[in-house]
Amino acid sequence: MGARKPRDYQPFENILRALRQRLRGDVQAMSDAALHGDTDGDLSHVPIHMADKGTDAFDQEFTLSLVENEEETLQQIDAALERLSSGQYGNCLSCGKPIPMQRLNAIPYTAHCVHCATKLQS
Ligand SMILES: [Zn+2]
Repeated sequence: MGARKPRDYQPFENILRALRQRLRGDVQAMSDAALHGDTDGDLSHVPIHMADKGTDAFDQEFTLSLVENEEETLQQIDAALERLSSGQYGNCLSCGKPIPMQRLNAIPYTAHCVHCATKLQS
């Protein structure tokens, strides 16, 4: 097993950019739906019963929390792209060891090896 070269990470740049683009699109669409509702121009479907209103409020909260997570993911993707261009991509930010390729394939924007990520989460 030789040392990894920056070109080994080249495919991840395309993956990260595609992922970012998709998330950007999704975040935009979901924010619009959550903030403006989907009853525009169709007053016949405005909820009247309390139960319906409760459900709507829950849906809105749920969608917004999803958006929050996607924003966080977007930031991680941006940080990963920066590490790619500065040649630091693929190494754990905590312990400095190379992150296993298997993990990078699963989560290309991860900044930590499994060991450190588990420690950070607890
Ligand atoms: Zn680590």
